[in-house]
Amino acid sequence: MNQLVVMKFGGTSMGSAERIRGAALLCEEQYNRRPTCVVVSAMSKVTDLLLDTLRHAEGGDAAGVEANLQALETRHRDTCHELLEGPLGEETQLLLSGILNEFARIARGVLMLGERPPRSVDEAIAVGERLSSTLIAAYLRSRNVDAFAVNARDVIVTDAVFGNAAPLLDPTREKAENLLKPELEAGRMPIVTGFNGATLDGRPTTLGRGGSDFSASILASVLDAEELWIWTDVDGIMSADPRIVPEAVVLEEITYREAAELAYNGAKVLHPRTLAPLMEKEVPVWSKNSFRPEVAGTRIVPNAGAPPGARAVTSMNNVALVSLEPASALLSGTRVMARAIEALAATNAEVLALSSSSYRQNFCFLIRQSELPAVIERLEQAFSLELAHGYLHPIDIDLDVGLLAIVGEGMKGQAGLAGRIFTAISREMVNIIAIAQGSSELTIAIAVRKDGIEKAVRAVHRECGLGPVPAV
Ligand code: ADP
Ligand code: ASP
Ligand code: MG
Repeated sequence: MNQLVVMKFGGTSMGSAERIRGAALLCEEQYNRRPTCVVVSAMSKVTDLLLDTLRHAEGGDAAGVEANLQALETRHRDTCHELLEGPLGEETQLLLSGILNEFARIARGVLMLGERPPRSVDEAIAVGERLSSTLIAAYLRSRNVDAFAVNARDVIVTDAVFGNAAPLLDPTREKAENLLKPELEAGRMPIVTGFNGATLDGRPTTLGRGGSDFSASILASVLDAEELWIWTDVDGIMSADPRIVPEAVVLEEITYREAAELAYNGAKVLHPRTLAPLMEKEVPVWSKNSFRPEVAGTRIVPNAGAPPGARAVTSMNNVALVSLEPASALLSGTRVMARAIEALAATNAEVLALSSSSYRQNFCFLIRQSELPAVIERLEQAFSLELAHGYLHPIDIDLDVGLLAIVGEGMKGQAGLAGRIFTAISREMVNIIAIAQGSSELTIAIAVRKDGIEKAVRAVHRECGLGPVPAV
Protein backbone atom coordinates (compact mmCIF):
# COMPACT_ATOMS: atom_id res chain seq x y z
CA MET A 1 0.00 0.00 0.00
CA ASN A 2 1.29 3.43 -0.97
CA GLN A 3 3.37 5.10 1.78
CA LEU A 4 2.08 2.78 4.51
CA VAL A 5 4.17 2.57 7.67
CA VAL A 6 3.76 -0.26 10.17
CA MET A 7 4.87 0.64 13.71
CA LYS A 8 5.30 -1.86 16.54
CA PHE A 9 5.53 -0.95 20.23
CA GLY A 10 7.09 -3.43 22.66
CA GLY A 11 6.09 -4.16 26.25
CA THR A 12 8.12 -1.42 27.92
CA SER A 13 6.89 1.09 25.33
CA MET A 14 3.35 0.19 26.48
CA GLY A 15 4.26 -0.36 30.15
CA SER A 16 2.33 2.46 31.88
CA ALA A 17 -0.14 5.27 31.21
CA GLU A 18 2.79 7.59 30.62
CA ARG A 19 4.42 5.21 28.15
CA ILE A 20 1.12 4.67 26.32
CA ARG A 21 0.75 8.45 25.98
CA GLY A 22 4.26 8.59 24.50
CA ALA A 23 3.54 5.75 22.08
CA ALA A 24 0.23 7.34 21.07
CA LEU A 25 2.00 10.59 20.27
CA LEU A 26 4.39 8.75 17.96
CA CYS A 27 1.42 7.04 16.26
CA GLU A 28 -0.35 10.36 15.87
CA GLU A 29 2.67 12.00 14.27
CA GLN A 30 2.76 9.35 11.54
CA TYR A 31 -1.02 9.20 11.19
CA ASN A 32 -1.01 12.90 10.29
CA ARG A 33 1.49 12.21 7.50
CA ARG A 34 0.67 8.81 5.98
CA PRO A 35 -1.39 5.62 6.40
CA THR A 36 -0.26 3.98 9.62
CA CYS A 37 -0.89 0.48 10.96
CA VAL A 38 0.12 -0.12 14.58
CA VAL A 39 1.02 -3.39 16.30
CA VAL A 40 1.29 -3.55 20.08
CA SER A 41 2.71 -5.92 22.69
CA ALA A 42 1.10 -6.51 26.04
CA MET A 43 2.10 -4.11 28.82
CA SER A 44 5.52 -5.17 30.18
CA LYS A 45 5.49 -8.40 32.25
CA VAL A 46 1.79 -9.05 31.56
CA THR A 47 2.41 -12.12 29.36
CA ASP A 48 4.57 -13.57 32.16
CA LEU A 49 1.76 -12.89 34.63
CA LEU A 50 -0.79 -14.62 32.38
CA LEU A 51 1.43 -17.67 32.00
CA ASP A 52 2.12 -17.73 35.72
CA THR A 53 -1.62 -17.65 36.42
CA LEU A 54 -2.16 -20.68 34.19
CA ARG A 55 0.67 -22.52 35.96
CA HIS A 56 -0.95 -21.80 39.35
CA ALA A 57 -4.26 -22.99 37.92
CA GLU A 58 -2.78 -26.21 36.62
CA GLY A 59 -1.16 -26.82 40.00
CA GLY A 60 -4.52 -26.39 41.77
CA ASP A 61 -3.50 -23.15 43.54
CA ALA A 62 -6.83 -21.26 43.57
CA ALA A 63 -5.54 -18.48 45.84
CA GLY A 64 -2.56 -17.87 43.52
CA VAL A 65 -4.91 -17.66 40.54
CA GLU A 66 -7.18 -15.13 42.24
CA ALA A 67 -4.24 -12.99 43.39
CA ASN A 68 -2.88 -12.85 39.83
CA LEU A 69 -6.30 -12.05 38.37
CA GLN A 70 -6.55 -9.20 40.82
CA ALA A 71 -3.10 -7.87 39.90
CA LEU A 72 -3.97 -8.04 36.20
CA GLU A 73 -7.21 -6.20 36.68
CA THR A 74 -5.72 -3.49 38.89
CA ARG A 75 -2.86 -2.78 36.48
CA HIS A 76 -5.17 -2.29 33.50
CA ARG A 77 -7.96 -0.53 35.33
CA ASP A 78 -5.54 1.95 36.93
CA THR A 79 -3.86 2.61 33.59
CA CYS A 80 -7.24 3.18 31.95
CA HIS A 81 -8.23 5.50 34.77
CA GLU A 82 -5.06 7.55 34.30
CA LEU A 83 -5.55 7.75 30.53
CA LEU A 84 -9.25 8.33 30.07
CA GLU A 85 -12.18 9.96 31.77
CA GLY A 86 -15.90 10.44 31.12
CA PRO A 87 -18.02 8.16 28.96
CA LEU A 88 -15.03 6.97 26.86
CA GLY A 89 -13.26 5.94 30.08
CA GLU A 90 -16.33 4.01 31.25
CA GLU A 91 -16.83 2.37 27.88
CA THR A 92 -13.18 1.30 27.84
CA GLN A 93 -13.37 -0.10 31.40
CA LEU A 94 -16.28 -2.24 30.21
CA LEU A 95 -14.29 -3.54 27.23
CA LEU A 96 -11.36 -4.36 29.53
CA SER A 97 -13.71 -6.20 31.93
CA GLY A 98 -15.04 -8.32 29.10
CA ILE A 99 -11.50 -9.37 28.09
CA LEU A 100 -10.41 -9.93 31.71
CA ASN A 101 -13.49 -12.11 32.28
CA GLU A 102 -12.58 -14.25 29.28
CA PHE A 103 -9.15 -14.82 30.80
CA ALA A 104 -10.60 -15.55 34.25
CA ARG A 105 -12.96 -18.10 32.70
CA ILE A 106 -10.08 -19.95 31.00
CA ALA A 107 -7.88 -19.81 34.13
CA ARG A 108 -10.67 -21.18 36.32
CA GLY A 109 -11.36 -23.87 33.71
CA VAL A 110 -7.70 -24.95 33.88
CA LEU A 111 -7.97 -24.96 37.68
CA MET A 112 -10.92 -27.35 37.50
CA LEU A 113 -9.39 -29.61 34.88
CA GLY A 114 -5.89 -29.62 36.37
CA GLU A 115 -4.38 -29.33 32.89
CA ARG A 116 -3.60 -26.68 30.29
CA PRO A 117 -4.74 -27.61 26.79
CA PRO A 118 -2.32 -25.83 24.39
CA ARG A 119 -5.17 -24.26 22.47
CA SER A 120 -6.65 -22.62 25.58
CA VAL A 121 -3.19 -21.44 26.60
CA ASP A 122 -2.76 -19.62 23.29
CA GLU A 123 -6.17 -18.02 23.56
CA ALA A 124 -5.45 -17.00 27.14
CA ILE A 125 -2.00 -15.51 26.75
CA ALA A 126 -3.03 -13.27 23.84
CA VAL A 127 -5.25 -11.44 26.32
CA GLY A 128 -2.35 -9.14 27.27
CA GLU A 129 -2.18 -7.72 23.74
CA ARG A 130 -5.97 -7.43 23.54
CA LEU A 131 -5.99 -5.34 26.72
CA SER A 132 -3.13 -3.07 25.62
CA SER A 133 -4.54 -2.53 22.12
CA THR A 134 -7.93 -1.64 23.60
CA LEU A 135 -6.28 0.90 25.92
CA ILE A 136 -4.17 2.71 23.35
CA ALA A 137 -6.91 2.71 20.71
CA ALA A 138 -9.32 4.36 23.17
CA TYR A 139 -6.68 6.87 24.22
CA LEU A 140 -6.03 7.78 20.57
CA ARG A 141 -9.76 8.20 20.02
CA SER A 142 -9.83 10.58 22.97
CA ARG A 143 -7.33 12.64 20.97
CA ASN A 144 -9.57 12.57 17.89
CA VAL A 145 -7.50 10.01 16.04
CA ASP A 146 -9.70 7.50 14.24
CA ALA A 147 -8.05 4.43 15.79
CA PHE A 148 -9.63 1.03 16.45
CA ALA A 149 -8.37 -2.16 18.10
CA VAL A 150 -8.06 -5.32 16.00
CA ASN A 151 -7.56 -8.84 17.31
CA ALA A 152 -4.88 -10.40 15.06
CA ARG A 153 -6.80 -13.63 15.37
CA ASP A 154 -9.01 -12.20 12.63
CA VAL A 155 -6.08 -11.32 10.34
CA ILE A 156 -2.96 -13.44 10.85
CA VAL A 157 -3.46 -17.02 9.68
CA THR A 158 -1.00 -19.61 10.99
CA ASP A 159 -0.32 -23.32 11.09
CA ALA A 160 -1.55 -25.27 14.12
CA VAL A 161 1.72 -25.39 16.10
CA PHE A 162 0.29 -23.88 19.29
CA GLY A 163 2.73 -21.69 21.20
CA ASN A 164 5.14 -21.44 18.26
CA ALA A 165 3.00 -21.05 15.17
CA ALA A 166 4.27 -20.07 11.72
CA PRO A 167 2.25 -17.73 9.50
CA LEU A 168 0.56 -18.70 6.25
CA LEU A 169 1.16 -15.59 4.19
CA ASP A 170 -1.35 -16.04 1.36
CA PRO A 171 -4.50 -16.38 3.49
CA THR A 172 -3.11 -13.67 5.79
CA ARG A 173 -2.74 -11.31 2.85
CA GLU A 174 -6.31 -11.99 1.81
CA LYS A 175 -7.63 -11.24 5.29
CA ALA A 176 -5.49 -8.12 5.65
CA GLU A 177 -6.71 -6.86 2.30
CA ASN A 178 -10.33 -7.40 3.28
CA LEU A 179 -10.16 -6.22 6.85
CA LEU A 180 -7.36 -3.67 7.19
CA LYS A 181 -6.76 -2.13 3.77
CA PRO A 182 -10.20 -0.50 3.30
CA GLU A 183 -9.95 0.99 6.80
CA LEU A 184 -6.46 2.34 6.14
CA GLU A 185 -7.63 3.78 2.85
CA ALA A 186 -10.51 5.45 4.65
CA GLY A 187 -7.99 7.18 6.92
CA ARG A 188 -8.48 5.01 10.00
CA MET A 189 -5.65 3.57 12.10
CA PRO A 190 -5.82 -0.13 13.06
CA ILE A 191 -4.14 -1.06 16.36
CA VAL A 192 -3.48 -4.76 15.92
CA THR A 193 -2.56 -7.16 18.72
CA GLY A 194 0.97 -8.52 18.38
CA PHE A 195 1.89 -12.11 19.22
CA ASN A 196 -1.30 -13.96 18.18
CA GLY A 197 -3.11 -15.38 15.20
CA ALA A 198 -5.43 -18.27 14.38
CA THR A 199 -5.46 -21.35 12.19
CA LEU A 200 -7.49 -21.38 8.97
CA ASP A 201 -10.36 -22.94 10.89
CA GLY A 202 -10.21 -20.26 13.57
CA ARG A 203 -8.31 -21.92 16.45
CA PRO A 204 -6.25 -19.32 18.38
CA THR A 205 -2.45 -19.56 18.16
CA THR A 206 0.61 -17.57 19.26
CA LEU A 207 3.90 -16.95 17.45
CA GLY A 208 6.35 -17.68 20.29
CA ARG A 209 7.64 -15.39 23.05
CA GLY A 210 8.63 -11.96 21.79
CA GLY A 211 6.47 -12.64 18.72
CA SER A 212 4.97 -9.16 18.32
CA ASP A 213 7.97 -8.10 16.20
CA PHE A 214 7.09 -10.99 13.91
CA SER A 215 3.41 -9.98 13.81
CA ALA A 216 4.47 -6.51 12.68
CA SER A 217 6.74 -7.81 9.92
CA ILE A 218 4.05 -10.22 8.71
CA LEU A 219 1.61 -7.31 8.39
CA ALA A 220 4.24 -5.05 6.80
CA SER A 221 4.84 -7.75 4.21
CA VAL A 222 1.23 -8.59 3.34
CA LEU A 223 0.17 -4.93 3.29
CA ASP A 224 3.16 -3.96 1.11
CA ALA A 225 4.30 -1.37 3.64
CA GLU A 226 6.93 1.15 2.71
CA GLU A 227 8.67 0.88 6.09
CA LEU A 228 8.50 -1.00 9.38
CA TRP A 229 9.45 0.78 12.60
CA ILE A 230 10.06 -1.30 15.71
CA TRP A 231 9.90 0.85 18.85
CA THR A 232 11.69 -0.60 21.86
CA ASP A 233 13.60 0.49 24.99
CA VAL A 234 17.16 0.83 23.62
CA ASP A 235 18.59 3.17 20.98
CA GLY A 236 18.66 0.50 18.27
CA ILE A 237 20.55 -2.66 17.51
CA MET A 238 23.80 -2.57 19.39
CA SER A 239 27.18 -4.24 19.15
CA ALA A 240 26.11 -6.36 22.17
CA ASP A 241 23.34 -6.50 24.75
CA PRO A 242 24.01 -3.34 26.81
CA ARG A 243 22.96 -5.23 29.95
CA ILE A 244 26.00 -7.46 29.49
CA VAL A 245 28.44 -5.07 27.80
CA PRO A 246 27.98 -1.50 29.09
CA GLU A 247 30.28 -0.06 26.40
CA ALA A 248 28.22 -1.56 23.54
CA VAL A 249 27.48 0.95 20.75
CA VAL A 250 24.45 1.47 18.50
CA LEU A 251 24.91 0.28 14.91
CA GLU A 252 23.70 2.91 12.43
CA GLU A 253 22.99 0.46 9.66
CA ILE A 254 23.09 -3.31 9.35
CA THR A 255 21.98 -5.79 6.71
CA TYR A 256 18.97 -8.08 6.94
CA ARG A 257 21.33 -11.02 7.08
CA GLU A 258 23.31 -9.57 9.99
CA ALA A 259 20.17 -8.61 11.90
CA ALA A 260 18.61 -12.02 11.32
CA GLU A 261 21.77 -13.79 12.53
CA LEU A 262 21.85 -11.61 15.64
CA ALA A 263 18.18 -12.28 16.35
CA TYR A 264 18.49 -16.03 15.81
CA ASN A 265 21.46 -16.14 18.12
CA GLY A 266 19.78 -14.41 21.03
CA ALA A 267 19.70 -10.62 20.51
CA LYS A 268 16.32 -10.17 22.15
CA VAL A 269 15.86 -6.78 20.47
CA LEU A 270 14.32 -8.61 17.46
CA HIS A 271 12.27 -11.80 17.36
CA PRO A 272 14.29 -14.35 15.33
CA ARG A 273 11.77 -14.70 12.51
CA THR A 274 11.05 -10.97 12.09
CA LEU A 275 13.04 -10.33 8.93
CA ALA A 276 12.04 -13.38 6.91
CA PRO A 277 8.77 -11.99 5.47
CA LEU A 278 10.48 -8.72 4.47
CA MET A 279 13.61 -9.91 2.72
CA GLU A 280 12.08 -10.56 -0.68
CA LYS A 281 10.32 -7.20 -0.83
CA GLU A 282 13.27 -5.39 0.71
CA VAL A 283 11.13 -3.37 3.11
CA PRO A 284 13.49 -1.23 5.23
CA VAL A 285 13.17 -1.72 9.01
CA TRP A 286 14.07 0.78 11.72
CA SER A 287 14.77 -0.20 15.32
CA LYS A 288 14.12 2.85 17.50
CA ASN A 289 13.88 3.88 21.14
CA SER A 290 10.38 5.03 22.17
CA PHE A 291 11.95 6.67 25.24
CA ARG A 292 14.24 8.78 22.99
CA PRO A 293 12.49 9.10 19.62
CA GLU A 294 14.85 11.87 18.54
CA VAL A 295 17.75 9.36 18.30
CA ALA A 296 18.04 7.98 14.75
CA GLY A 297 18.19 4.29 15.72
CA THR A 298 19.33 1.44 13.50
CA ARG A 299 18.32 1.03 9.89
CA ILE A 300 18.13 -2.56 8.64
CA VAL A 301 18.62 -2.68 4.88
CA PRO A 302 19.09 -5.34 2.18
CA ASN A 303 22.73 -4.42 1.56
CA ALA A 304 25.21 -2.09 3.18
CA GLY A 305 28.89 -1.39 2.56
CA ALA A 306 30.26 -3.94 5.02
CA PRO A 307 33.10 -2.60 7.16
CA PRO A 308 35.77 -5.26 7.66
CA GLY A 309 35.56 -7.52 10.71
CA ALA A 310 32.80 -8.34 13.19
CA ARG A 311 29.83 -6.04 13.89
CA ALA A 312 28.26 -7.50 17.00
CA VAL A 313 28.39 -10.30 19.51
CA THR A 314 25.35 -11.88 21.04
CA SER A 315 24.58 -14.67 23.46
CA MET A 316 21.86 -16.99 24.61
CA ASN A 317 21.58 -18.64 27.99
CA ASN A 318 18.47 -20.68 27.74
CA VAL A 319 19.61 -23.31 25.31
CA ALA A 320 19.80 -27.09 25.43
CA LEU A 321 22.22 -29.46 23.76
CA VAL A 322 20.37 -32.63 22.74
CA SER A 323 22.36 -35.71 21.71
CA LEU A 324 21.20 -38.86 20.00
CA GLU A 325 23.42 -41.91 19.62
CA PRO A 326 22.58 -45.32 18.17
CA ALA A 327 23.42 -48.18 20.55
CA SER A 328 23.47 -50.69 17.75
CA ALA A 329 25.23 -50.74 14.39
CA LEU A 330 21.92 -51.93 12.94
CA LEU A 331 20.50 -48.45 13.29
CA SER A 332 21.79 -46.06 10.62
CA GLY A 333 23.07 -42.78 12.03
CA THR A 334 21.94 -40.95 8.90
CA ARG A 335 18.39 -42.24 9.31
CA VAL A 336 18.38 -41.19 12.97
CA MET A 337 19.44 -37.72 11.87
CA ALA A 338 16.76 -37.53 9.17
CA ARG A 339 14.00 -38.61 11.51
CA ALA A 340 15.20 -36.32 14.29
CA ILE A 341 15.16 -33.35 11.93
CA GLU A 342 11.66 -34.25 10.83
CA ALA A 343 10.59 -34.27 14.49
CA LEU A 344 12.21 -30.84 14.96
CA ALA A 345 10.41 -29.47 11.92
CA ALA A 346 7.05 -30.68 13.23
CA THR A 347 7.45 -28.43 16.27
CA ASN A 348 8.74 -25.39 14.30
CA ALA A 349 11.83 -25.55 16.53
CA GLU A 350 14.91 -23.70 15.32
CA VAL A 351 18.19 -25.60 15.22
CA LEU A 352 20.83 -23.16 16.47
CA ALA A 353 23.82 -25.42 15.81
CA LEU A 354 24.26 -28.98 14.74
CA SER A 355 27.14 -31.40 14.74
CA SER A 356 27.74 -35.09 14.16
CA SER A 357 30.53 -37.58 14.55
CA SER A 358 30.91 -40.11 11.77
CA TYR A 359 32.54 -42.89 13.77
CA ARG A 360 30.10 -43.11 16.70
CA GLN A 361 27.24 -41.88 14.54
CA ASN A 362 26.51 -39.50 17.41
CA PHE A 363 24.43 -36.52 16.46
CA CYS A 364 23.76 -33.45 18.58
CA PHE A 365 21.96 -30.17 18.12
CA LEU A 366 21.37 -27.00 20.08
CA ILE A 367 17.86 -25.57 20.52
CA ARG A 368 16.15 -23.00 22.75
CA GLN A 369 15.04 -24.41 26.12
CA SER A 370 11.55 -23.03 25.51
CA GLU A 371 11.26 -25.41 22.57
CA LEU A 372 12.73 -28.40 24.43
CA PRO A 373 9.56 -30.01 25.88
CA ALA A 374 7.79 -30.15 22.51
CA VAL A 375 10.95 -31.41 20.77
CA ILE A 376 11.59 -34.15 23.33
CA GLU A 377 7.99 -35.29 23.18
CA ARG A 378 8.23 -35.57 19.38
CA LEU A 379 11.60 -37.33 19.49
CA GLU A 380 10.34 -39.85 22.04
CA GLN A 381 7.33 -40.51 19.84
CA ALA A 382 9.43 -40.84 16.70
CA PHE A 383 11.94 -43.22 18.31
CA SER A 384 9.65 -45.01 20.77
CA LEU A 385 10.50 -48.49 19.43
CA GLU A 386 14.25 -47.88 19.15
CA LEU A 387 14.36 -46.46 22.68
CA ALA A 388 12.24 -49.29 24.12
CA HIS A 389 14.41 -51.98 22.51
CA GLY A 390 17.70 -50.32 23.30
CA TYR A 391 18.76 -49.60 19.69
CA LEU A 392 19.14 -45.97 20.65
CA HIS A 393 20.85 -44.68 23.82
CA PRO A 394 18.51 -42.62 26.04
CA ILE A 395 18.25 -39.08 24.66
CA ASP A 396 20.87 -36.94 26.39
CA ILE A 397 20.03 -33.34 27.36
CA ASP A 398 22.68 -30.89 28.55
CA LEU A 399 21.25 -27.66 29.98
CA ASP A 400 24.55 -26.28 31.22
CA VAL A 401 25.46 -24.60 27.94
CA GLY A 402 25.20 -21.15 26.44
CA LEU A 403 25.61 -19.98 22.87
CA LEU A 404 27.71 -17.04 21.82
CA ALA A 405 27.71 -15.73 18.26
CA ILE A 406 29.89 -13.20 16.48
CA VAL A 407 28.23 -11.68 13.43
CA GLY A 408 29.39 -9.51 10.54
CA GLU A 409 29.31 -9.57 6.73
CA GLY A 410 32.85 -8.20 6.83
CA MET A 411 34.28 -11.24 8.63
CA LYS A 412 34.58 -13.12 5.35
CA GLY A 413 38.14 -13.95 4.51
CA GLN A 414 39.57 -12.23 7.59
CA ALA A 415 42.48 -14.56 8.27
CA GLY A 416 43.17 -15.15 11.94
CA LEU A 417 39.93 -13.64 13.28
CA ALA A 418 38.48 -16.95 14.51
CA GLY A 419 41.79 -17.82 16.19
CA ARG A 420 41.85 -14.46 18.01
CA ILE A 421 38.28 -14.99 19.20
CA PHE A 422 39.01 -18.48 20.59
CA THR A 423 42.14 -17.20 22.31
CA ALA A 424 40.20 -14.32 23.88
CA ILE A 425 37.61 -16.76 25.26
CA SER A 426 40.21 -19.24 26.51
CA ARG A 427 42.08 -16.42 28.28
CA GLU A 428 38.98 -16.00 30.45
CA MET A 429 39.22 -19.73 31.33
CA VAL A 430 35.85 -20.38 29.68
CA ASN A 431 35.39 -23.90 28.35
CA ILE A 432 34.46 -24.11 24.64
CA ILE A 433 32.14 -27.07 23.92
CA ALA A 434 31.41 -26.75 20.21
CA ILE A 435 32.08 -24.39 17.31
CA ALA A 436 30.03 -23.85 14.16
CA GLN A 437 30.64 -21.55 11.23
CA GLY A 438 28.43 -21.47 8.17
CA SER A 439 30.05 -21.39 4.76
CA SER A 440 28.86 -17.78 4.32
CA GLU A 441 31.30 -16.78 7.10
CA LEU A 442 28.63 -14.41 8.38
CA THR A 443 28.54 -15.89 11.87
CA ILE A 444 30.82 -17.83 14.15
CA ALA A 445 28.73 -19.65 16.78
CA ILE A 446 30.42 -21.01 19.87
CA ALA A 447 28.81 -23.15 22.57
CA VAL A 448 30.43 -22.62 25.96
CA ARG A 449 29.71 -23.61 29.56
CA LYS A 450 26.89 -21.43 30.79
CA ASP A 451 28.64 -19.81 33.76
CA GLY A 452 31.32 -18.35 31.45
CA ILE A 453 29.09 -16.86 28.79
CA GLU A 454 28.97 -13.22 29.91
CA LYS A 455 32.73 -13.10 30.49
CA ALA A 456 33.22 -14.58 27.02
CA VAL A 457 30.90 -11.99 25.40
CA ARG A 458 32.82 -9.11 27.00
CA ALA A 459 36.16 -10.63 26.00
CA VAL A 460 35.08 -11.05 22.37
CA HIS A 461 33.57 -7.54 22.23
CA ARG A 462 36.90 -6.14 23.41
CA GLU A 463 39.03 -8.37 21.16
CA CYS A 464 37.04 -7.43 18.04
CA GLY A 465 37.19 -3.70 18.89
CA LEU A 466 33.40 -3.33 18.88
CA GLY A 467 33.22 -0.58 21.53
CA PRO A 468 33.32 3.18 20.96
CA VAL A 469 35.87 4.35 18.39
CA PRO A 470 38.61 6.19 20.33
CA ALA A 471 38.85 9.92 19.52
CA VAL A 472 41.87 10.66 17.32
P1 ADP B 1 10.40 -5.05 23.43
O1 ADP B 1 9.57 -5.26 24.64
O2 ADP B 1 10.40 -3.62 22.96
O3 ADP B 1 10.12 -6.03 22.34
P2 ADP B 1 12.71 -6.55 24.27
O4 ADP B 1 12.95 -6.59 25.73
O5 ADP B 1 12.09 -7.75 23.64
O6 ADP B 1 11.90 -5.24 23.91
O7 ADP B 1 14.10 -6.26 23.51
C1 ADP B 1 14.88 -5.14 23.88
C2 ADP B 1 16.04 -5.59 24.75
O8 ADP B 1 16.91 -6.43 23.97
C3 ADP B 1 16.95 -4.48 25.21
O9 ADP B 1 16.49 -3.89 26.40
C4 ADP B 1 18.32 -5.17 25.38
O10 ADP B 1 18.61 -5.45 26.73
C5 ADP B 1 18.16 -6.51 24.65
N1 ADP B 1 19.23 -6.75 23.67
C6 ADP B 1 19.88 -7.92 23.53
N2 ADP B 1 20.80 -7.85 22.57
C7 ADP B 1 20.74 -6.59 22.05
C8 ADP B 1 21.45 -5.91 21.01
N3 ADP B 1 22.43 -6.51 20.29
N4 ADP B 1 21.10 -4.64 20.77
C9 ADP B 1 20.13 -4.03 21.46
N5 ADP B 1 19.44 -4.61 22.47
C10 ADP B 1 19.73 -5.89 22.77
N1 ASP C 1 3.81 -10.19 24.88
C1 ASP C 1 4.51 -11.25 24.19
C2 ASP C 1 5.68 -11.73 25.04
O1 ASP C 1 5.92 -11.19 26.10
C3 ASP C 1 4.95 -10.88 22.81
C4 ASP C 1 5.92 -9.69 22.73
O2 ASP C 1 6.08 -8.94 23.68
O3 ASP C 1 6.52 -9.54 21.66
O4 ASP C 1 6.32 -12.69 24.67
MG1 MG D 1 10.61 -8.08 22.16
